[in-house]
Formats: sequence, structure tokens, C-alpha cells
Amino acid sequence: MTQETPDAPPLRLALIGGGIAGVTLLLALLKHTSRTHITPHLYEATPQFSEIGAGIAFGSNSIRAMERISSEMAAAYNKHATFQPDSGALEKKLWSSYRMGMDGKNGLKAGDYLHEVHAAVARSSVHRARFLEAMTALLPDEGEGYVSFSKRLVGILDNEAEGTVTVQFADGTEEVVDAVIGCDGVRSRVRQILLEGEEAAEPVFSGKYAYRGLIPMEEAVAALGEDTARNNHFHWGYDGHLLTFPIEHGRTMNVVAFRTKMDGVWEHGGRWVLPGDQEKMLRDFKGWGKDVQAILGLMRKADIWALYDHAPASIYYRGSRMCMLGDAAHASTPHQGAGAGMAVEDVWVLSRLLAEVRGKADLERAFRAYDAVRRPRTQRLVRSSRDAGILYECQKEGVLDDVEKIRADLDDRMWWIWDLDLDAHLQEALDVFRDGA
Ligand SMILES: Cc1cc2nc3c(=O)[nH]c(=O)nc-3n(C[C@H](O)[C@H](O)[C@H](O)COP(=O)(O)OP(=O)(O)OC[C@H]3O[C@@H](n4cnc5c(N)ncnc54)[C@H](O)[C@@H]3O)c2cc1C
Repeated sequence: MTQETPDAPPLRLALIGGGIAGVTLLLALLKHTSRTHITPHLYEATPQFSEIGAGIAFGSNSIRAMERISSEMAAAYNKHATFQPDSGALEKKLWSSYRMGMDGKNGLKAGDYLHEVHAAVARSSVHRARFLEAMTALLPDEGEGYVSFSKRLVGILDNEAEGTVTVQFADGTEEVVDAVIGCDGVRSRVRQILLEGEEAAEPVFSGKYAYRGLIPMEEAVAALGEDTARNNHFHWGYDGHLLTFPIEHGRTMNVVAFRTKMDGVWEHGGRWVLPGDQEKMLRDFKGWGKDVQAILGLMRKADIWALYDHAPASIYYRGSRMCMLGDAAHASTPHQGAGAGMAVEDVWVLSRLLAEVRGKADLERAFRAYDAVRRPRTQRLVRSSRDAGILYECQKEGVLDDVEKIRADLDDRMWWIWDLDLDAHLQEALDVFRDGA
């Protein structure tokens, strides 16, 4: 434990952004730090907490991180999560099936199985909006006194002499705090300021976009059969792929239909989400197999999302006064379904480090230790996830010629994410923190 500064006022931390990362961090700080040392306050740009009506999957690593952050958070997740039906007598649970979504050039036909990946823990996923609601309900008085809405961060002034920062909002108000933690997502303003002058400050179009929509499960079962409708499936194709999984306790099928934009450019005047366009979607998947056509035909209101990620940031903090976490630090494409899970891990490590902080002098050490253990792991996901998107869309030379190679690749792709020893990982961060004293 660090030396306590006598009568030091609590450190004021401004958390910017109230998505999964920001709300989880607020919950974790309220649980693991004392108000005599740290006072967190979350500033969210929108008038209320909001998430989209789509599904999100969490691997066993993220669920273990939730359990460590707070048993209430893990219980909220478990209450709303849909656990994929077990695959019979297998010792390991089915994580996902991979099938052809269209005919392949080498004789593979639409519907042919490529592989099944299994995990030690059943795959689970949750409706994003329900989960965020459940988490915000865990905040004392629903966040009263700890959360301000309609506060869009526009600037950060570094008051070096006082060792503080002034956070400035679009409505003209400002607050002086000891440090700011950016949880403001892929288009993070905190990241732009923290990495000012670096190319990595801005997100990059990954070259892919996705239609996201939902289907009532009974309709999906009638069209596809029980197994295809109720279990997680990837449908592979050339320059596109589909992902489906159950949410809302199996009442709804979540669908994401991905396409590559062959010119690699996203225009649309800075808009990353466009209203659904059924005709364009059907055109995009013309000639694909019957399951894919059935899924697309049943999809409700499928908005189009441009998929951006981040080139590796050289650092996740600046001195003792700025840090970033979640997508703000390491937005990845969604092809391994692990971005939000990484944010939950970030929170576990950073909140436990901040629990050790007793004065301003400790803050930089905590941020440095967080950066040292979290940056390599989270940036690996960004790289690996891009690579997975290329694999599922048969953009690797001769990929379908060797199905055994695909199987080996898929078997290896998730274990390093799921198998993290969280306690050893945290210990590593605590060692860096203590060594820096
Ligand atoms: C199609 C798709 C599928 C995905 N599937 C999965 C999955 O299955 N599993 C998984 O783990 N991950 C998945 N991800 C990734 C996951 O969505 C993100 O990693 C996660 O939502 C990041 O959370 P966040 O809180 O960091 O950012 P966000 O969810 O983007 O939240 C940022 C918050 O900050 C606020 N904000 C932004 N700017 C400001 C500002 N200037 N001032 C104040 N507030 C601001 C926003 O309003 C928002 O509330 C998927 C992503 C996509 C696109």
C-alpha cells in the first residue's frame, strides 16, 4: 500500500463516456476505491444512457472479470444472458459453427460445415440495451451525484502548475479535476487530445461494413431449423460473411451481415451508421445460399454500420492527468466478438490499481502499470480481429483449398482471449505499480 498523503483531498476523476466501458468503470471505482481517496464522476454526451438493440457476446475471460469487479454486475449479466444450447455429450461446449454461406470455388457448397469451435464455458450473449440498463440500475440512486448527462467533452486544458486538468464541454461548462479517463468510444475526443499529432489519434475504416438486425426466433427456427437458428453460426463467403446468435433468452436471433467495400473508402459525410436498406442488402448478397437468403429476408430494420478500428496507440496515458480505456484506447473490428470484453478487463485492472492510489503522485504510476499490461493484449485483439475478418471472407489466398488449415486457425484464434489468468495479470500490473514507487 502506498504512503497516505495526510489530509489530502480525494482525487477527482472525470470519466468521459457512459457506454459499457464507462459505466463499468464507475461501478468498479465505487466498489473498489474509497471516497476519501477517489471521487469519480461520469460525463455522458447524450441525454441518457443508451445502447442499441443488438446482441453482444462475452467470453469466459470477460465474465470472470465481471465477477471480480462486482458480484452484482456478474449477476445482472447472468440474469439477462442467453446461454447457447449445450451440444449434447461433448465435454466442451459449442462456441460456434462455421459453414459456407455460398458455394466455394473448390467444390464446397453453401451450407457445408467447415468447423465447430468448442469452449470450456457455454457461449453467452446479451441484449446490449438490457445489459446497460441492468448495470446502471446498480449505481447508487441510479447514478445521482455521480453522473451528468448532455455533457459532450470538447477540450482538455492541462493546468501543469496546479497538477489538474480542466475538462470543457460543448455546452460551455467546464470542470477542474485531477485526471480524466476517456471511455468515449472509437471516435474518442480524449484519444485525439492524448495522441495529438500521431496518426493513431484518429480511427481508420477497416474496409468492411455490416447490416445489423434482429429476427423473432420462432420465424428463424421455421426457416432454418433448430440448430442453425439457435446456435452461433458464421456463414462464410467471398468478400462477405454472416454471423447469427441467440439473445433475449433465445426469443430473438441477432444477425450481423458483413460486406467488404471493395474500394476501401467510406464516405457518407462522416456518418458511420446509415438507415437500413433492404434492397441494397439483398443486392449485396445476391447469389448466396438459401440459409443466407432466408436470414436476410426475415431481418427487421437492418441499419448499416461502417466498421472502424484503431492503429496501435503508442501509449494509453499522458502523465498523471489523462488515460483512456475500452474502445477509446483500442477499438477493434467485431470479428472475434471481444472488444467489449477487453473493456471489462481494462476496468478490472485499472480500478484495482486506482484502489492503491493515495495521492496525486501515485496516479501516473497507476496509469503506467495499466498501460504496461493492457496495451499488448488489447492491441493483439485489434490485429487478430482484422485478420479474422479477412479469413471469414475468403480473402486469404487459397484459403478454402485446405480446410484442415482453417480448422487449426479457428481452434487457435480464441483461446488466448478466453484463457487469461486474470489474477496473474493483475499481479503483474500491481508489481509494475509498486516497482515504480
Ligand atoms: C457490429 C459489432 C458487433 C460487436 N460485437 C461484439 C461482441 O459480440 N462482443 C464484444 O465484446 N464486443 C463486440 N463489439 C465491440 C463493442 O461494441 C465495443 O468494444 C464496446 O461497445 C465498446 O464500449 P465503450 O464503452 O468503450 O464505447 P462505446 O460503446 O462507443 O461508448 C462510448 C460512450 O461515450 C459517449 N461519448 C462519445 N464521445 C463523447 C464525448 N466527447 N463526451 C462525452 N461522452 C462521449 C457515447 O455517447 C457513448 O455512450 C462489437 C462491435 C460492433 C461494431
